[in-house]
Amino acid sequence: MKTIIEPFKIKSVEPLRFTSRDEREAFLETAFLNPFLLHADDVLIDLLTDSGTTAMSALQWSGMMNGDEAYAGSRSYYRFERTLKELTGFTYVIPTHQGRAAEKILFSIVGGQGKVIPNNTHFDTTRANIEYSGATAVDLLTDVGKRPDVVADFKGNMDVDALVRLIDDVGVDNIPLVMMTVTNNSGGGQPVSMANMKAVRAVCTMYGIPFFIDACRFAENAMFIKMREPGYADRSVRSIVQEMFALADGATMSAKKDGMVNTGGFLAMHDSVLAEKARTVLIVTEGFPTYGGLARRDLEAMAQGLDEVLDEAYLTYRLRSVEYFGDHLRAHGVPILEPTGGHAVYLDASRFAPHIAPSQFPGQAIACALYVEGGIRGVEIGSLMFGTTDAHGIHVAPPMELVRLAIPRRVYTQSHIDYCIEIIVDVYKNRDALRGMKLTYEAPFLRHFTARLAYAE
Ligand SMILES: *Cc1c(COP(=O)(O)O)cnc(C)c1O
Repeated sequence: MKTIIEPFKIKSVEPLRFTSRDEREAFLETAFLNPFLLHADDVLIDLLTDSGTTAMSALQWSGMMNGDEAYAGSRSYYRFERTLKELTGFTYVIPTHQGRAAEKILFSIVGGQGKVIPNNTHFDTTRANIEYSGATAVDLLTDVGKRPDVVADFKGNMDVDALVRLIDDVGVDNIPLVMMTVTNNSGGGQPVSMANMKAVRAVCTMYGIPFFIDACRFAENAMFIKMREPGYADRSVRSIVQEMFALADGATMSAKKDGMVNTGGFLAMHDSVLAEKARTVLIVTEGFPTYGGLARRDLEAMAQGLDEVLDEAYLTYRLRSVEYFGDHLRAHGVPILEPTGGHAVYLDASRFAPHIAPSQFPGQAIACALYVEGGIRGVEIGSLMFGTTDAHGIHVAPPMELVRLAIPRRVYTQSHIDYCIEIIVDVYKNRDALRGMKLTYEAPFLRHFTARLAYAE
């Protein structure tokens, strides 16, 4: 087989800024050992997130020039609505400025004290919006999904038996909806099979509970289904996407991922009563229903992006380029979550730095070292992001300690990734020098964004 190449050429470029190791050490100290607090200009290769970091296409940029900035009833809104209805089949489509705005609206309506929302794995903002409403967020990932060293096709799947147990435990009336995150971002960008979505749909139907999809990476998930699930090899990705959405009663999405835009999102559903309530909250907090907190040109770019992301040459390149990164790290013995997911490579910090206890944030130590060594910015997804403290003040670690290296869409080339591989391998060779950390400041919600840390003694 021939090399899978980028199915695009580059029309517009931005320079990278090179810094010295000494400079980076100082920058990181100023940022309280939290890469979120670095100035992006001081980062060489930014793998913090694939969210809103996409390089837009010429057609998206020209669409933005052509956007209709009418406050109400904009032509760009109708293009966006048409595109989404055609793709998802949902009756009501509500634009929001990003994914968490859709979550905020949804959970301010269906959440609240005593409610329980299951998911394969809640993304951090989803969990935060649920908890902020007073409800409880429960993760029901299968056991295999929690084991970074096990290679399996659909490690994002939900444990369907656990879902049934949970419903029987807390009572149908306390579960306003079941969510499924595709791909499972916090669990390693791992896909969910169509069979699993159908099984969850069947449970929801049996109990009369609505089923919602957190659709951020719906196209990557559909491509994995095409490549891995029996019966889907000859199907178009578009038809697989349509089959996925047809199983659901609604969806939230951050279009900053598979929407291929720098900002945008939506909330969609079939239920007219819920749609009515959501639009009321939207008008109070986001904007009029035909723009939802966005410029109308953003809706134009989103409509175009949602079309481009279904290009199978793009998706083939996308999944292969992430796999390439993972393959080369593995060849050097670097422990990663396997198999590689759709949008990121996840270093397995528990095996990378086993000498650092979860309570001292091994993933954060690695993330900081990657920055100091090579100007690479990744993000800890482990005890800093999801850890809690029990009633006795003991640290409770999440199932996995990871460092996510997310690949922005259409931004970096293979030589950028080759450089990252060299730096990561160097840090891995010197892993004994990695040091544990402690928190010196934390916010009550989503603490990893603004946390301040220091090296532990
Ligand atoms: C990014 C993301 C969100 C939140 O979207 P924002 O646009 O960042 O607000 C929700 N769920 C998942 C799975 C995500 O990856």
